[in-house]
Amino acid sequence: MSKVIVITGGAGFIGSHLVDYFVNNGDMVYALDSLITGNLKNIEHLFGKKNFVFFHMDVTNYIHIPGKVDYVLHFASPASPVDYLEYPIQTLKVGAIGTHKTVGLAKEKGARFLLASTSEVYGDPLVNPQPETYWGNVNPIGPRGVYDESKRFAEALTMAYHRYHGVDTRIIRIFNTYGPRMRSNDGRVVPNFITQALKGEPLTIFGDGSQTRSFCYIDDLVSGIVKVLDADYHLPINLGNPEEYSIFEFAKIIKELTGSRSEIVYKPLPQDDPKVRRPDITLAKKLLGWEPGVKVKEGLIKTIEYFRKEFNL
Ligand code: UDP
Repeated sequence: MSKVIVITGGAGFIGSHLVDYFVNNGDMVYALDSLITGNLKNIEHLFGKKNFVFFHMDVTNYIHIPGKVDYVLHFASPASPVDYLEYPIQTLKVGAIGTHKTVGLAKEKGARFLLASTSEVYGDPLVNPQPETYWGNVNPIGPRGVYDESKRFAEALTMAYHRYHGVDTRIIRIFNTYGPRMRSNDGRVVPNFITQALKGEPLTIFGDGSQTRSFCYIDDLVSGIVKVLDADYHLPINLGNPEEYSIFEFAKIIKELTGSRSEIVYKPLPQDDPKVRRPDITLAKKLLGWEPGVKVKEGLIKTIEYFRKEFNL
């Protein structure tokens, strides 16, 4: 049976891939986006389709959707450290007030609600890999606090609506994800390194490059999200790829795959930059039978191809 689905952040990187998935699945999709960091280009191929509607709106305001709604998926937020430094108040508001409005919409419509949370709730983690049971090590007043704390609040609010209002909720903690539709000026490591490598500019490693991250290709994430929606489970679930790389190793991989002769330069490490990050996905494997299938090099080749074409690099 086709569903009616509201996706906030629907013109963003992850949001627009979800919109594509559900529109192609024959569902009715309402995509909402303020376009602060989202881009209409990501969804322009859908305009004119009968089962797709776009609302240009900030979801910290009251949301009105006509008729029945089956799922509300809250993906709106700046998601790059560079963006949440530039838009700290909007980041706090969309995580806090935007979650209140969207979970409120789900309550009113009797819809299932899915919160896109983040590995940032673990902060600069003192355990590696991070299981869902780890409570995190977050600096509330540092520059990343606007994102980390609003997402932690969003998780608390989602659980409260589940426990006290009986809303059928889901929480996913998304680890670093990459793929086509990231912006070349996004500021995160994948778009930065690819853009720099393709332009022959130096690759900027922050700190000494020994910090680690684990990168999940967008298609794997989307398939995980679809499985979470179908599972009857209300506590947070990590979604990410557990293959862990140091940023220095990662720079070398990008150079190899682009065939770039760019040099590597070292810049100061941003404040509170996590030293390690790797998801423990035992729960997702057991509960959903899900794990990423796209190898990092395979996903990066597709992403590099997109950057070449989209940004004429
Ligand atoms: N990073 C880097 N060079 C860049 C951009 C990022 O060395 O040009 C580092 C950053 O300091 C962090 C890691 O790459 O340790 C991942 O950063 P990103 O902004 O992608 O996301 P984060 O995982 O920190 O949220």
